[in-house]
Formats: sequence, structure tokens, C-alpha cells
Amino acid sequence: MTRPRASISVELGAIRHNVEVLARLVAPSALMVVVKADGYGHGMVPVAHAARQAGAPWLGVATIDEALQLRRGGDSGRVLCWLTVPGEDYDTALREDLDVTAYSAAELDEIAAAAERTGIAARVQLKVDTGLSRGGSPTAVWPDLVEEARRLETAGLVRITGIWSHFATSDEPDHPASDAQQKVFDEALDVAFDAGLRPELRHLANSAAAILRPGARYDLVRCGIAAYGLDPAPGRTPDLGLVPAMSVVTQLAMVKPLRAGDSVSYGHTWTADRDTTVGLVPVGYAEGIPRHAGNRAHVWVAGKRRPVRGRVCMDQFVVDLDGDLPEAGEQVLVFGPGTAGEPTAQDWAEASETISYEIVARIGGRMSLLHVDSGEVG
Ligand SMILES: *Cc1c(COP(=O)(O)O)cnc(C)c1O
Repeated sequence: MTRPRASISVELGAIRHNVEVLARLVAPSALMVVVKADGYGHGMVPVAHAARQAGAPWLGVATIDEALQLRRGGDSGRVLCWLTVPGEDYDTALREDLDVTAYSAAELDEIAAAAERTGIAARVQLKVDTGLSRGGSPTAVWPDLVEEARRLETAGLVRITGIWSHFATSDEPDHPASDAQQKVFDEALDVAFDAGLRPELRHLANSAAAILRPGARYDLVRCGIAAYGLDPAPGRTPDLGLVPAMSVVTQLAMVKPLRAGDSVSYGHTWTADRDTTVGLVPVGYAEGIPRHAGNRAHVWVAGKRRPVRGRVCMDQFVVDLDGDLPEAGEQVLVFGPGTAGEPTAQDWAEASETISYEIVARIGGRMSLLHVDSGEVG
């Protein structure tokens, strides 16, 4: 049997475990597992399936295309999508039984037109901008949006199933912006209620807020990163026993000695200060390995952490084996759950001055994505 040159291995038992932990934590609020961006790089359809097995009543994605991919993958449960552009194919979204989000009256009117064409009342959630200043209705026009929604609801074209918003600073529990946003959210809910809307769901919290702000859980929380076992607020999150699901595994393409004074990789940014040995790792920034991690990150080879030496290239990078001479073909764990001492996605994030979200979402390129299932993990 040939071993893959390099692969992303995703433990579905870890996903199920994490979803169960989060669902228990936030009950009686419901859990939406966010599987956008190919399940944060973990493979959207298998992750979605694992999340449903663990009891997730809702899945969340950014685009309608992603939601349709879930349907093609056999998912028939509630799915919310929230990022559309003018001219989107709402007819298909309604036929495929999706909940869609509207940020504006124009969007709502497009959705209502699709409802008229298809004869299917659209399930719509309204998003209010409570201070992130990204998507969502500005509060100044929120009363108008709510009035329009109520008018379309009365006409039988839409049913408002949710009202929601998104935090800017939920990973900083003491940041005053979260309190301010929650207050604006409560006011927006009052406006909607007064206009006659009775959404089944009010939701505001992502992973960090779901864990750190029990008062922001409302009817449902939207968890992405924590479902993958990564820490949404490193250093601030209590230990919930979440298990990172992704490991990146490859093998040494070559091992060789270097002499003191030899310099490594483009730009010669690292020079050996002693005789040593190095290994060639056959993945690079085309696989999503951050170039910024050159001379900073580590991998796990033959029972030790090994520092990256020199720049990360498009296809490969070099690690210091410190005199050890494993054979070519020796396993390299780029990152994993950390249980054996190997670096984690969080370690790579810190080495690259980014967040673990970006590390897992960008990983891919020529690597194969493999799903394993060892039963309950954690
Ligand atoms: C991506 C996303 C989430 C999930 O955030 P996490 O921090 O990964 O839990 C929740 N809500 C919205 C609107 C998102 O775009």
C-alpha cells in the first residue's frame, strides 16, 4: 500500500465529541454548527454528517452554493446561509428548503419575488448590524426592514424564522463592545416584536461568546471553530475537553547533513551555527503552509519537535533534525491535536501571527483530505 505524500486527516469522532460537548454546554439553547469554507478546511459534507449524528439541529454556511452542496451531500435538516449578492438564485434556495438571511429591504424583495415565482413561502432570517459594521441592517433603517418583513409575511410570501447579529470582540470577554452590541440587539428585537414579528430563533453568539457569555446564548448559538476542537479565545477559554479534529501528516522527502556555515532556503535567512542534519518536508505555501512561519514554527518528527529553518517555499520547507538521521519516508506531523507533543494549529497560528481559523481554513493545495472515524474521541 502506498502512503499518501501528504494528507490532511480529520477525525470525525472528534467532531462528534466537540458538538456533543458544546450542545450540552449551551442547552437549553440550540446549537448551529458552522460548516462554511469547506468546514473550515475539514471537509464540509463529512463534517456536517458528523455534526448531525451528534445531534446538531442547525448547520450554518455563508453562501447558497455551500448550502446546496450540503443538500447534494444528502443533508435534509435546517440550514441557514447568510452571505448573498444581488441576483442570487433564491428560487433554488427556496426549492431546496434553505433558510436565507436578509440584510436589506432590497434583498427581502428579491427573496419575496422568488417566493412568488416558486409558490414557496421563504423562510428568512433578518440580520441587524449591532456594531461589527460588516453585514447586517444598520439600526437606522432596521424599523423599515422589519415593517417590510411584516408586510411580506402578512402577504404569505415570507416567514421570518430568525433575527440575529454577530459580535466583533467576543474573544475578548472584558471588551465593552460586547455589552454594547447585546444592548443594541435587545432593542432591535423589541422593535421587531412591536412590529408583529415572532421569530422562532434569536441568535448572537459565535463559539467564543457561546462559551464565555452565557447571557448571549438566546435561542441558539453558532459554533464554528470550537466544533473543530480549536480554542476561539486562546488563554481565556475554560478547558472543555474539546479535541482538535485535524492533523496534517506527511513524510520526509530527504535527510542530509549540513556543515556549520551552510545557509538554508531562499534568501539564506538561516545559517547553521554547527554541523547538523536537516529533513526536507514536501509541502509548502501552495498547501497553505504559511510562508510567515519560516524560522518560527515546528513540526514533529521521530518523537521530537523540529524547528523550521529558512523560508517556507511553494512546495517544501526544511526542518532541523539536530544530528538525528531518520530515514527518508519518516513520518512528519506538521500539526495535530497535540496529545503526543506535536505542534497544534494554534502553535502554527502563533508562529505565523494569525489565528487558528486561518491555519485550518487555508490548508489544502495538493494534499489529500482523509476522514477517519475512531468512534467516540475525547
Ligand atoms: C463564521 C461565523 C460563525 C462561526 O464563528 P466561530 O468563531 O468559528 O464560532 C458564526 N456566525 C457567523 C455569522 C459567521 O460568519
